[in-house]
Amino acid sequence: MAVDRLTRFISPAGAVCVFCGGEADGCGVVCEKCRSRLTENAGRVCKKCGRVLIAEEEYCETCRNHSRVFDLARSRYVYEDGARKIITDYKYGKALYLAKVIAHDMAEVYAAADMNCTVMINAPATPARVKERGFDHTALLCEYLSAELHIPFAADAIVKKKDNSAQAGLSGAEREENVLGAYGRGENAKRLRGAHVLIVDDVLTTGATASAVAREAYKCRAAGVKVLTYASTRSVNILSGGEI
Ligand SMILES: [Zn+2]
Ligand SMILES: [Zn+2]
Repeated sequence: MAVDRLTRFISPAGAVCVFCGGEADGCGVVCEKCRSRLTENAGRVCKKCGRVLIAEEEYCETCRNHSRVFDLARSRYVYEDGARKIITDYKYGKALYLAKVIAHDMAEVYAAADMNCTVMINAPATPARVKERGFDHTALLCEYLSAELHIPFAADAIVKKKDNSAQAGLSGAEREENVLGAYGRGENAKRLRGAHVLIVDDVLTTGATASAVAREAYKCRAAGVKVLTYASTRSVNILSGGEI
């Protein structure tokens, strides 16, 4: 999809805040007052997965205790309040004009984290899910990111073969089990050979999806795999009954 065709997703309402309906600031979707509802994923974050840490440590519990197939993951916001609303409006409310702003915020993190990838892929959904939703939300983010970062987007390099969406309520280990075998090579898989691959997704929770897609990328002989998401959940202490 060429960038000029993407302009049709510009907000039809103009620069209106998605939270209060007031006049938005420069980015076009959030006003100055409501910007505080977006919590930057900055400060003390896990060196591996990029999620906000809950204690004085270098790596979160999940990264310390479980294998991570990707080399590194980074995200812009903590997945709560404002970021959650923007993703919900975009993904489920079909507010496609938000894709440009979401991608731009992600592009800034990519640059700040020196991720240096040579090709990008989206965390794919099954064709049935894309049809049901009406659009491929991660592929659309890739279109914008590709244009802004000048990194080619290899659509359909990795495909999702079976739906494993019933992740809610599963522990991290169960999630990993649930995603195994869900992904496979697509027609563009050869473009990942020797490449430094960037996986683009909207939200990183436990990282099970990212790991499953990364595993496929490595099977296609990628030289490295990093993950970029708009938001990520806070790390949770596993001993306190958290995620994994
Ligand atoms: Zn506002
Ligand atoms: Zn981590």
